[in-house]
Amino acid sequence: MATTNEAFRCMLCGHEYQEALEKGVDKERSCPKCRSNSIRHLKKKAVSDQQSAISSQQSAVSKKRAE
Ligand SMILES: [Zn+2]
Repeated sequence: MATTNEAFRCMLCGHEYQEALEKGVDKERSCPKCRSNSIRHLKKKAVSDQQSAISSQQSAVSKKRAE
């Protein structure tokens, strides 16, 4: 299953958060803070993808070290 971490912003309270999103699936979502469903999809790609790729690499490395 291909999921990507996408950024969203609540238009009501301004809260920004990330949520795993399945490709091609656009379900209704609500703000985790105020439960509003005025959520805007922020398309700042690549940066967060790279960061998550790096952090998963780092955790793999630290796991190896721990063993
Ligand atoms: Zn909100």
